[in-house]
Amino acid sequence: MHKNYIPISEIFYSIQGEGINLGKPAVFIRVYFCNLYCEWCDTKYTWLNQEYAKEGIDYVNMNEDEIIEKIGKYPAQHVVITGGEPLLSQSKLINLIRMLKEMSYYIEIETNGTIKPNIDLIKYVDNFSVSPKLSNSKVDYKLRIRYDILKYFSQLENVTFKFVICDKEDLKEMEDIINKIQIEKRKVIIMPEGTDEETIKKRSCWLIEYCKERSYRYSPRIHIWLYGNKRGF
Ligand code: SF4
Repeated sequence: MHKNYIPISEIFYSIQGEGINLGKPAVFIRVYFCNLYCEWCDTKYTWLNQEYAKEGIDYVNMNEDEIIEKIGKYPAQHVVITGGEPLLSQSKLINLIRMLKEMSYYIEIETNGTIKPNIDLIKYVDNFSVSPKLSNSKVDYKLRIRYDILKYFSQLENVTFKFVICDKEDLKEMEDIINKIQIEKRKVIIMPEGTDEETIKKRSCWLIEYCKERSYRYSPRIHIWLYGNKRGF
C-alpha cells in the first residue's frame, strides 16, 4: 500500500485539557505548518519558521505505520490530531485516520475552521473541534473567518466550536459568528485565553458568569494549570 509521509512536530501522551473531551487520556499528534499566525498562539514552533523549515529539524516526516507504532505504546484509545493546522495535511492524514478508526480509536481533530474537510475525513472523525479565530488573534479577517466553511462545519453532527476569549468585547464578535452561521448552543464551548494560571483564573471569573447567563459550556485549560505553557503536554 502507498504510504504517506506526514510532517509531524511532536507526538506525546497527556490528557485532553480543554473542549468537549476534557479530561480524557489521549495521544496528541501535532502536525507541522499553519495557515494563520495568531498572536497568542501557544504552539508557534509549528509554523514560525515554516518558510525555511527543514525536515529532521523543525519536523519529521512519519508514515502511518511509524505513527501507529508510537501511539500503540500508550494505553489511551483517544487520538487528538492538532497543529499547527492539521487540515493543511488532510490528504496525507486520511489513510492514518482510517487505520486508527479500524483499530477503534476515538479521533478528534482540532482545526481553525478555514479549510473544508474532505468527505472521507468526516466519515472517520468523531469530533472536529473547530476554533474560529477572533480579532484578538491579530490575524487578518479575510484569512481567519471563512463563513462558507464555518457554515459547512456547523451543519455536521460531529463538530464542536471552541471560542478563545481574551476580554468582554470578544463576546460580541463571537455572538455575531454564532448568529450568522446559526451554531446550535450545545455545540458551543467558550474558553479563556491564557498561558498562565493567573490570567486564566481572572478571565474565567466573568466568563463563567456569561456562560451561566447564556447557557453555554465553559472549558478550562487544565494542561496550563498542570504544566504551565510547556511543550509536549
Ligand atoms: S491557528 Fe492555531 S496553530 Fe495556527 S497560529 Fe492560530 S493558534 Fe497557532
